[in-house]
Amino acid sequence: MTDDQVFRALQNCGAVNIKSHFCLTPKEIPPGSGIKRHFHSDTFIAKDRVFEYARELYCLAQEIADRHLMQTQNRPCDFVLGLEKGAIALANLVCHHLQISGHDHVRAGYAEAKPGGGFTIGRGFARNYTGRTVLIVEDIVVSGTSVRDAMEAVRENAGIPFGIWAICLRGDADTGGVPLNYLCKVDGAQMWAEEECPLCADPKWGPTSVRTDINKHGPEFFKRMNLPIPL
Ligand SMILES: [Zn+2]
Repeated sequence: MTDDQVFRALQNCGAVNIKSHFCLTPKEIPPGSGIKRHFHSDTFIAKDRVFEYARELYCLAQEIADRHLMQTQNRPCDFVLGLEKGAIALANLVCHHLQISGHDHVRAGYAEAKPGGGFTIGRGFARNYTGRTVLIVEDIVVSGTSVRDAMEAVRENAGIPFGIWAICLRGDADTGGVPLNYLCKVDGAQMWAEEECPLCADPKWGPTSVRTDINKHGPEFFKRMNLPIPL
Protein backbone atom coordinates (compact mmCIF):
# COMPACT_ATOMS: atom_id res chain seq x y z
CA MET A 1 0.00 0.00 0.00
CA THR A 2 1.21 3.51 -0.75
CA ASP A 3 0.76 6.28 1.84
CA ASP A 4 -2.16 7.59 -0.23
CA GLN A 5 -3.82 4.18 -0.23
CA VAL A 6 -3.45 4.00 3.55
CA PHE A 7 -5.01 7.46 3.90
CA ARG A 8 -7.87 6.52 1.57
CA ALA A 9 -8.50 3.28 3.51
CA LEU A 10 -8.81 5.35 6.70
CA GLN A 11 -11.11 7.81 4.97
CA ASN A 12 -13.23 4.96 3.63
CA CYS A 13 -13.71 3.76 7.21
CA GLY A 14 -14.76 7.29 8.20
CA ALA A 15 -11.72 7.51 10.50
CA VAL A 16 -10.04 10.60 9.03
CA ASN A 17 -12.18 13.66 8.42
CA ILE A 18 -10.46 16.83 7.25
CA LYS A 19 -11.26 20.30 5.89
CA SER A 20 -14.64 20.49 7.56
CA HIS A 21 -16.15 21.80 10.82
CA PHE A 22 -16.29 19.54 13.87
CA CYS A 23 -17.22 19.86 17.52
CA LEU A 24 -14.70 17.91 19.63
CA THR A 25 -14.99 15.98 22.89
CA PRO A 26 -15.41 18.59 25.68
CA LYS A 27 -12.49 18.99 28.07
CA GLU A 28 -12.62 19.69 31.80
CA ILE A 29 -10.42 22.74 32.35
CA PRO A 30 -8.78 22.85 34.82
CA PRO A 31 -8.96 19.08 35.40
CA GLY A 32 -11.24 18.20 38.31
CA SER A 33 -13.01 21.58 38.21
CA GLY A 34 -16.22 20.18 36.74
CA ILE A 35 -16.14 23.03 34.17
CA LYS A 36 -16.41 21.63 30.67
CA ARG A 37 -15.09 23.65 27.76
CA HIS A 38 -16.03 23.05 24.17
CA PHE A 39 -13.70 23.09 21.17
CA HIS A 40 -14.14 23.12 17.43
CA SER A 41 -11.72 21.90 14.77
CA ASP A 42 -11.31 21.52 11.02
CA THR A 43 -10.16 17.90 11.53
CA PHE A 44 -11.63 14.94 13.36
CA ILE A 45 -9.94 11.56 13.76
CA ALA A 46 -12.54 8.92 14.60
CA LYS A 47 -10.01 6.23 15.43
CA ASP A 48 -12.58 3.65 16.59
CA ARG A 49 -14.13 3.56 13.10
CA VAL A 50 -11.19 1.59 11.71
CA PHE A 51 -11.87 -1.28 14.12
CA GLU A 52 -15.35 -1.73 12.62
CA TYR A 53 -13.80 -2.56 9.24
CA ALA A 54 -11.99 -5.86 9.71
CA ARG A 55 -10.76 -6.12 6.11
CA GLU A 56 -9.16 -2.65 6.18
CA LEU A 57 -7.67 -3.33 9.63
CA TYR A 58 -6.25 -6.63 8.34
CA CYS A 59 -4.60 -4.82 5.39
CA LEU A 60 -3.24 -2.00 7.60
CA ALA A 61 -1.77 -4.59 10.01
CA GLN A 62 -0.17 -6.41 7.07
CA GLU A 63 1.34 -3.13 5.92
CA ILE A 64 2.80 -2.49 9.38
CA ALA A 65 4.23 -6.02 9.52
CA ASP A 66 5.72 -5.76 6.00
CA ARG A 67 7.27 -2.33 6.57
CA HIS A 68 8.60 -3.40 9.97
CA LEU A 69 10.28 -6.49 8.49
CA MET A 70 11.78 -4.44 5.68
CA GLN A 71 13.05 -1.81 8.11
CA THR A 72 14.61 -4.33 10.51
CA GLN A 73 15.96 -6.57 7.74
CA ASN A 74 13.72 -9.44 8.80
CA ARG A 75 14.32 -9.20 12.53
CA PRO A 76 10.77 -8.63 13.82
CA CYS A 77 10.56 -8.75 17.65
CA ASP A 78 9.50 -11.25 20.30
CA PHE A 79 6.23 -9.56 21.22
CA VAL A 80 3.76 -7.22 19.57
CA LEU A 81 2.10 -5.18 22.30
CA GLY A 82 -1.16 -3.31 21.67
CA LEU A 83 -2.47 -0.56 23.92
CA GLU A 84 -6.02 -1.20 25.02
CA LYS A 85 -8.59 -1.17 23.75
CA GLY A 86 -8.55 -0.79 19.98
CA ALA A 87 -4.89 -1.58 19.40
CA ILE A 88 -5.33 -5.02 20.99
CA ALA A 89 -6.97 -6.17 17.73
CA LEU A 90 -4.21 -4.44 15.77
CA ALA A 91 -1.48 -6.22 17.80
CA ASN A 92 -3.06 -9.61 17.13
CA LEU A 93 -3.24 -8.97 13.40
CA VAL A 94 0.32 -7.60 13.16
CA CYS A 95 1.48 -10.69 15.10
CA HIS A 96 -0.46 -12.92 12.69
CA HIS A 97 1.25 -11.34 9.66
CA LEU A 98 4.69 -11.66 11.26
CA GLN A 99 4.00 -15.32 12.08
CA ILE A 100 2.89 -16.19 8.55
CA SER A 101 5.95 -14.33 7.21
CA GLY A 102 8.09 -17.05 8.80
CA HIS A 103 8.44 -15.65 12.32
CA ASP A 104 6.48 -18.24 14.20
CA HIS A 105 7.97 -17.30 17.57
CA VAL A 106 6.35 -13.83 17.70
CA ARG A 107 3.57 -13.48 20.26
CA ALA A 108 0.91 -10.83 20.81
CA GLY A 109 0.06 -9.14 24.08
CA TYR A 110 -1.59 -6.02 25.39
CA ALA A 111 -1.10 -3.27 27.90
CA GLU A 112 -3.98 -2.29 30.16
CA ALA A 113 -4.60 1.30 31.19
CA LYS A 114 -4.21 1.85 34.96
CA PRO A 115 -6.99 3.84 36.68
CA GLY A 116 -4.60 6.62 37.77
CA GLY A 117 -2.79 6.83 34.41
CA GLY A 118 -0.06 4.78 32.76
CA PHE A 119 -0.18 1.17 31.66
CA THR A 120 0.36 -2.25 33.13
CA ILE A 121 1.06 -5.60 31.49
CA GLY A 122 -0.94 -8.04 33.54
CA ARG A 123 -2.99 -11.21 33.31
CA GLY A 124 -0.07 -13.59 33.41
CA PHE A 125 1.80 -12.15 30.46
CA ALA A 126 4.35 -10.15 32.47
CA ARG A 127 6.79 -12.98 33.16
CA ASN A 128 7.30 -13.63 29.46
CA TYR A 129 8.81 -10.23 28.68
CA THR A 130 12.14 -10.57 30.45
CA GLY A 131 14.92 -9.79 27.99
CA ARG A 132 12.50 -9.93 25.04
CA THR A 133 12.10 -7.31 22.34
CA VAL A 134 8.69 -5.64 22.24
CA LEU A 135 7.14 -3.82 19.31
CA ILE A 136 4.42 -1.43 20.49
CA VAL A 137 1.50 -0.83 18.14
CA GLU A 138 -1.11 1.92 18.48
CA ASP A 139 -3.98 3.21 16.37
CA ILE A 140 -3.32 6.94 16.55
CA VAL A 141 -0.44 8.72 18.27
CA VAL A 142 -0.90 12.39 19.16
CA SER A 143 1.48 13.55 21.91
CA GLY A 144 3.19 10.21 22.51
CA THR A 145 2.19 10.03 26.20
CA SER A 146 0.45 6.65 25.86
CA VAL A 147 3.31 4.97 24.02
CA ARG A 148 5.85 6.41 26.51
CA ASP A 149 3.74 5.02 29.38
CA ALA A 150 3.52 1.65 27.58
CA MET A 151 7.31 1.56 27.13
CA GLU A 152 7.66 2.23 30.85
CA ALA A 153 5.42 -0.80 31.52
CA VAL A 154 7.58 -2.91 29.17
CA ARG A 155 10.76 -1.84 31.00
CA GLU A 156 9.12 -2.51 34.40
CA ASN A 157 8.68 -6.09 33.14
CA ALA A 158 12.32 -6.28 32.01
CA GLY A 159 11.33 -6.17 28.34
CA ILE A 160 13.15 -4.16 25.67
CA PRO A 161 11.10 -1.58 23.70
CA PHE A 162 12.14 -2.28 20.14
CA GLY A 163 10.05 0.19 18.19
CA ILE A 164 6.65 1.76 17.79
CA TRP A 165 4.25 1.50 14.87
CA ALA A 166 1.10 3.59 14.59
CA ILE A 167 -1.55 3.60 11.91
CA CYS A 168 -1.72 7.38 12.06
CA LEU A 169 0.35 10.19 13.59
CA ARG A 170 -1.36 13.45 14.39
CA GLY A 171 0.94 16.12 15.78
CA ASP A 172 4.54 15.96 16.90
CA ALA A 173 4.89 13.08 19.30
CA ASP A 174 7.73 12.60 21.75
CA THR A 175 8.48 8.88 22.12
CA GLY A 176 11.52 9.18 24.32
CA GLY A 177 14.09 8.27 21.68
CA VAL A 178 12.45 5.00 20.58
CA PRO A 179 11.76 5.11 16.82
CA LEU A 180 8.17 6.02 15.98
CA ASN A 181 6.90 4.74 12.65
CA TYR A 182 3.50 5.40 11.16
CA LEU A 183 1.54 4.57 8.04
CA CYS A 184 0.16 8.06 7.57
CA LYS A 185 0.46 11.51 9.13
CA VAL A 186 -2.24 14.13 9.51
CA ASP A 187 -0.65 17.58 9.47
CA GLY A 188 -1.95 21.04 10.20
CA ALA A 189 -5.10 20.25 12.20
CA GLN A 190 -6.58 23.41 13.75
CA MET A 191 -8.46 23.60 17.05
CA TRP A 192 -10.23 26.55 18.66
CA ALA A 193 -12.28 27.30 21.78
CA GLU A 194 -15.92 27.13 20.67
CA GLU A 195 -16.58 30.83 21.35
CA GLU A 196 -13.52 31.79 19.28
CA CYS A 197 -14.11 29.41 16.36
CA PRO A 198 -13.34 31.24 13.09
CA LEU A 199 -15.52 28.82 11.13
CA CYS A 200 -18.56 29.67 13.28
CA ALA A 201 -17.76 33.37 12.72
CA ASP A 202 -17.29 32.99 8.98
CA PRO A 203 -20.58 33.68 7.12
CA LYS A 204 -19.55 31.14 4.47
CA TRP A 205 -19.49 28.41 7.14
CA GLY A 206 -21.41 29.53 10.26
CA PRO A 207 -22.47 27.43 13.28
CA THR A 208 -24.88 25.33 11.22
CA SER A 209 -21.96 23.91 9.24
CA VAL A 210 -20.85 21.90 12.30
CA ARG A 211 -20.98 18.25 11.20
CA THR A 212 -23.68 16.20 12.90
CA ASP A 213 -22.88 12.93 11.11
CA ILE A 214 -19.41 12.23 12.49
CA ASN A 215 -19.68 12.23 16.28
CA LYS A 216 -22.25 12.85 19.01
CA HIS A 217 -20.75 16.25 19.85
CA GLY A 218 -22.14 17.81 16.65
CA PRO A 219 -25.82 17.20 17.52
CA GLU A 220 -25.08 18.23 21.14
CA PHE A 221 -23.71 21.54 19.84
CA PHE A 222 -26.95 22.19 17.91
CA LYS A 223 -28.97 21.46 21.06
CA ARG A 224 -26.77 23.77 23.15
CA MET A 225 -27.19 26.56 20.59
CA ASN A 226 -30.93 25.94 20.22
CA LEU A 227 -30.47 25.35 16.50
CA PRO A 228 -32.56 22.88 14.51
CA ILE A 229 -30.45 19.83 13.57
CA PRO A 230 -30.13 19.68 9.76
CA LEU A 231 -31.64 16.63 8.12
ZN1 LIG B 1 -17.16 26.35 14.99
